[in-house]
Amino acid sequence: MKYISTRGQSPALTFEEAMLSGLARDGGLYVPEEWPTLSESKIASFAGKSYEEVAFEVMKPFVGDAFTDIEFMEIIQKAYAGFAHTAKCPLVQLDENHFLLELFHGPTLAFKDVAMQLIGQMFQVALKRRGDRVTIVGATSGDTGSAAIEAFKGLDAVDVFIMFPDGRVSEVQRRQMSTPSEANIHALAVAGDFDDCQARLKDMFNDFDFRDGVKLAGVNSINWARVMAQVVYYFTSAVSLGAPHRKVSFTVPTGNFGDIFAGYVAKRMGLPIDRLVIATNQNDILHRTMQSGDHTKMGVTPSISPSMDIEVSSNFERLVFDLYDREGDAVVQLMDALKNDGTFTLSQGATQKLHDEFDSGSCSESETSAQIKRSYADIGEVLCPHSAIAVKVANSIVRDETVPMITLATAHPAKFPAAVEAACGVHPEMPARMGDLFNKAERITKVGNDLADITAIIRERIAS
Ligand SMILES: *Cc1c(COP(=O)(O)O)cnc(C)c1O
Repeated sequence: MKYISTRGQSPALTFEEAMLSGLARDGGLYVPEEWPTLSESKIASFAGKSYEEVAFEVMKPFVGDAFTDIEFMEIIQKAYAGFAHTAKCPLVQLDENHFLLELFHGPTLAFKDVAMQLIGQMFQVALKRRGDRVTIVGATSGDTGSAAIEAFKGLDAVDVFIMFPDGRVSEVQRRQMSTPSEANIHALAVAGDFDDCQARLKDMFNDFDFRDGVKLAGVNSINWARVMAQVVYYFTSAVSLGAPHRKVSFTVPTGNFGDIFAGYVAKRMGLPIDRLVIATNQNDILHRTMQSGDHTKMGVTPSISPSMDIEVSSNFERLVFDLYDREGDAVVQLMDALKNDGTFTLSQGATQKLHDEFDSGSCSESETSAQIKRSYADIGEVLCPHSAIAVKVANSIVRDETVPMITLATAHPAKFPAAVEAACGVHPEMPARMGDLFNKAERITKVGNDLADITAIIRERIAS
């Protein structure tokens, strides 16, 4: 399988090259040249298989011969060994036909672990074989950074720099990034919001002197391998509810559009998904785009669901590429307009295609808190704010009642204890395996929202 850029100006790469580089040199994102499909009998055969076995089958067409089968199975086993649930991503029932897919049983209590743990193992094997070393730089609204640090800490072939918006992540998120003592880990608190961090990251990838000088690699959800890893749980959860013989729908708490895009990929691969529902918080650019095709930035307002406080939804570009029949030039035009004018409008044809696959809803702060309270009062389920948004949206939209709804629970409530306690009166306890997070010393470097300052720190640290 070859990977092509959504902007059509970069050469096609192998899986390993696309994984190790992250962003394409033309500013685009890598996508597979074509969507592989799995037959109905293949999907049916997933019933009763372990998460790891299904993961192998779903991802194999994407990785091709980057790893031997034995290597790839070992990578998958190691990646999920640290998950605290045998099913890895279990389903729980919310009501007659509504299920919650718990994606937070990994080491940092958010769904980012599902992809990041796998990427860590894949980087390790690929870099060792190449005798190479890379600098990983990531931008995070909180969960990606901690997941990346957990996945890459102590690995000898990588240095990891994580930029997070100073003062805008939860204390648990910050401590998960600042307390690991491994020398290859660097937490950078940037004076700005998440979109600033993500913009500086893109600047670094577009600064070829820096990019090549430090061998820059990205593990944000712009990295194709992240999206690929997330496709797996759409299959495991759908099959456990009767797919491929029965349709299912999904509702996904959405920020950077990586998670729900993985659902779109699962559908392209042949999984019978009826509707994909985009759930946003008050930063609702994607919900507004669904309504009118108008994709206009209006500024990010901090919320109690900080991992969704985003308005430059990077992975949306991957969908736009398909909505425009994979015309790189059309994507370039729209993305230039977004960068220069803060807005673009989808064509009627593209908007129609969007509506063929997706529904959407947004959730205010008070509605989020009310849903946390209601889920606890009605069924004793303590939801994190992100998951609560998705449950609320899933319950608000018009649904085909014959189709089961699977709502993705993206974080453990203990990762956002203040918001959860304020909403339902319950202080969510950290799982015991999180240990002494609150007793460890923190290590943070504060830096301005300035490309030159940030790159200077990175060059200096990796030289020493
Ligand atoms: C990252 C994250 C999201 C948003 O996922 P995207 O792939 O960026 O759309 C939602 N909830 C939580 C808890 C997250 O960490």
